[in-house]
Amino acid sequence: MQQKRIAILGSTGSIGTQALEVIEANPNSFLVEVLTAQSNADLLIEQSIKFKPNCVVIGNEALYDKVFSALNALDIKVYTGAKALESVVQMDSIDIVLTSMVGYAGLLPTIKAIEAGKHIALANKETLVVAGELITALAREKGVNIYPVDSEHSAIFQCLVGEFHNPIEKVILTASGGPFRGKKREELLGVTKAQALKHPNWVMGAKITIDSASLMNKGLEVIEAKWLFNVEPSQIEVVVHPQSIIHSLVQFEDGSIKAQMGLPDMKLPIQFALGFPDRLKSDFPRFDFMKYPNLTFEQPDKETFRNLQLAFNAMATGGNMPCILNAANEIAVAAFLEDKIGFLQMSDLIETCMAKLPFIKQPSLEDYIATDEATRKFALEAL
Ligand code: MN
Repeated sequence: MQQKRIAILGSTGSIGTQALEVIEANPNSFLVEVLTAQSNADLLIEQSIKFKPNCVVIGNEALYDKVFSALNALDIKVYTGAKALESVVQMDSIDIVLTSMVGYAGLLPTIKAIEAGKHIALANKETLVVAGELITALAREKGVNIYPVDSEHSAIFQCLVGEFHNPIEKVILTASGGPFRGKKREELLGVTKAQALKHPNWVMGAKITIDSASLMNKGLEVIEAKWLFNVEPSQIEVVVHPQSIIHSLVQFEDGSIKAQMGLPDMKLPIQFALGFPDRLKSDFPRFDFMKYPNLTFEQPDKETFRNLQLAFNAMATGGNMPCILNAANEIAVAAFLEDKIGFLQMSDLIETCMAKLPFIKQPSLEDYIATDEATRKFALEAL
């Protein structure tokens, strides 16, 4: 296999750091070409000294001098700002761009990377939630592959390998249910961010951990699945599976269901996305059936966890509605993390935004950008 040259957007986050572990363990397969981070300059410098990328971008311009003086002598180019991010992803020497930054910020760099013909390992699900139609059309036009990194979508993708000509009847996304599974609305009124940040199975960044507790993460993943696998909303189901061993399933038109299983460890889907079509040998811990004698399944509770229903509604409405949902959710999560609103009020805020912001049936990129901005402004005022 030829060595693939990787750009990691968001290298200091949870996915970024695990991607670097995968790359370090497979030096013959991967080479780090670009690293970027928003504000964790210390870790970006440490990673750069170790992996010797061609260039790095520090998003926060106030940290540029610090990063520059640390890396200049090593012949590593240092840039800063949003525009720099959009241009480095187009460098000739990049084969794959891993988009592992948080939230809406992933949209424009991902578009630029696709325009330059770079394959995408997509960890930033918000990109497809906000502008899935535009992104998938652009990827088709440019002959670019989008490899899912999200564990559920990686599972579906792994089930589909060798089956690409067979129509999908249904995709079934599994959900752990998060730390509040089984709780009712009254019990969720007073939950704290510390409780919400304790995910039973996965260690992740704060934003996605809150999204997992509120089931918004699953809602975003439903929309992500629609675009990645080109299926209708009626073909997507969610089933709660608290053990997080079956990562998702595909049902084909003959009724057969394929599932992908393993211990919950993001390094596997990261490695599969970067290494595709090869499965690289790994020393990740192996699954033991005897330690999991019971794999169980439940219906998701969309009345308690209204975010999941709101996401299904946004997907069914289409247009810029998922963009409104996403922007409102980013403001809601930030407000919850700052103790400004309660856990259940996050859904209230999102629902208000979905009702009040102007609906656009066939948005352009400019419409998405304007919708995102207007929704954030409205949500901040509504708080
Ligand atoms: Mn996931």
